[in-house]
Amino acid sequence: MRLSEFRGKKVLREAGLNSPNGSTATTPAEARRAAAALGGPAVVKAMIPVGGRGKAGLVKLVATPAEAEAAAALILGQVHGGHTVTTLLVEEQIKVKNEYYLSIILDSSRRGPVLIFSPEGGMDIEQVAALKPDRLVRVKVDPVTGEIARDFSTRLAGFKLPAQVATQVERFAADLARLYVQDDLLLAEVNPLVVDAADQVIAADCKLEIDDSSLFRHQEYQTEAEGSLSPMEKEVKGLGGTLISLPGGEVGVICNGAGMGMAMLDMLKSVGLRPSNFLDTGGGIRYQRMKGITTVLLREKDFRGVVINLWGGIALLDEVAKAIIDVRDEYRPPYPLVVKLVGNNQEKARELLEKAGITVAKAVETEKAVQMLAEVIEGRATDGRTAHA
Ligand code: GDP
Ligand code: MN
Repeated sequence: MRLSEFRGKKVLREAGLNSPNGSTATTPAEARRAAAALGGPAVVKAMIPVGGRGKAGLVKLVATPAEAEAAAALILGQVHGGHTVTTLLVEEQIKVKNEYYLSIILDSSRRGPVLIFSPEGGMDIEQVAALKPDRLVRVKVDPVTGEIARDFSTRLAGFKLPAQVATQVERFAADLARLYVQDDLLLAEVNPLVVDAADQVIAADCKLEIDDSSLFRHQEYQTEAEGSLSPMEKEVKGLGGTLISLPGGEVGVICNGAGMGMAMLDMLKSVGLRPSNFLDTGGGIRYQRMKGITTVLLREKDFRGVVINLWGGIALLDEVAKAIIDVRDEYRPPYPLVVKLVGNNQEKARELLEKAGITVAKAVETEKAVQMLAEVIEGRATDGRTAHA
């Protein structure tokens, strides 16, 4: 789970790390008031979970509340990286002297967290790594204590930063590493880490990502965890499954197993259908959970079709079939449904579905079920056209 920049900076401050004060705004008037409350030059930035905002013109430096209002009117509603800007961050403007890069990532090839620092901030870090590898340090962080490998100090000294700046960078890095371990983060990136006109080191941007599997021991992040899910995603989570809504989709998908689910999204795209979601039922599915999960999709009216693809290991597929039939009967979706069930009690399950008039893909290959759905949808579209002619 990724924290918003606003929340991330608050977490930094609470951990004793320097980051600008600010507040969020959703209208130009609110942005004006937020800037007035700061009482000086401000930055108005789009609060969306993607980078490259600076280059896209979504970070504006303003001198007065009136300018903040105008900047907000410009930025709100813009789309960047698939995200529409609905919230702004209005914060104290930093007088930037230098921009550095600092992050801690989980590096599987090094089997643990790694800290990356470069005095070349404000530039894509991949570029620095490719063009100026000697301007970038990578050192291990102890996954238990959060201690940074000793050679960080030596390597940092090599960059010949002013002494009081180097000391602050070192302290900032140490505190960030401690936070990383304590809060079970997967990513902590501060880009740029800024040196201001008074030689203070401060986080101008911040990306914090928490390991979802650790949320049970982080009460403080529960509200964000809830807030980051849509009502539908929350409902499926409550049923024991995982739903991720995909914007602009037209076809509903239910499957068990995340790998198969992701493969299905690709298969649907390859036959020209846009999946509206990823939905993994979770293992050991029985009648009640299948009914609940199927309901979440089949009560939606504006799909072009739904494909259900389950593998029955310990799951009893005839129970699954009954659940699908019951939900179909209750909601009567106006679009075609294609079901492929393979495994435990598959014959009985297929018989039940066929009797209920549901299209069954009797194949082992998932491609066949996806192809069948495309054909049924296509067939309907063609029927529609002839009917109108
Ligand atoms: P990103 O482009 O999405 O990563 O957004 P950032 O928050 O990193 O902002 C982009 C750029 O805007 C930074 O690299 C800075 O150059 C600039 N910027 C952000 N905040 C401030 C600030 O308070 N003062 C000044 N002078 N520049 C800022
Ligand atoms: Mn940035």
